Amino acid sequence: MSFQGEKTREEIDAEWDDIQGPVRLKILKFADEAIKGDWDEGDKVTKVNAPAFAADVLLHVRKRFYMEVEKDAKEARAAGRKPIVDPFGGPFTQKLSLENMKYVFDVKVKPITSKFRNDLFLCPSCDANMKFFGFEGVIQHYAAKHTTILSRRRRRHRELN
Ligand SMILES: [Zn+2]
Repeated sequence: MSFQGEKTREEIDAEWDDIQGPVRLKILKFADEAIKGDWDEGDKVTKVNAPAFAADVLLHVRKRFYMEVEKDAKEARAAGRKPIVDPFGGPFTQKLSLENMKYVFDVKVKPITSKFRNDLFLCPSCDANMKFFGFEGVIQHYAAKHTTILSRRRRRHRELN
């Protein structure tokens, strides 16, 4: 077994794809559950309820994913095995990344909502403004306005120059 530092970028990407493939299939299946169940395969989605639809699908995926992680861990312990723990730097199978959520959004939500609108998400911290964002937009807004990550990065950038 080699250290991560010895692997090429391509090898690391291939490894992530191998391990993330089943995760992606699983989360698409969870998305389908929500879309089929409550939203009549998407037929019930309108311009007005598209934001509720997007949130419903993504939250359902998240809920089902962690229910299954919990269930697997319980079964492993009951069978005297150790529950799976993700390696520190990934690839992850026990937690959902932002990329996973974006993948579900692009494949399952956007094809249904894009004919109505692209701005679907309210910022959780300033939703009183009732300003809707796209998927990337709300993440960028949140990071820029409500966390110090971006400003810290900017400062480091300045120091380096
Ligand atoms: Zn905000």
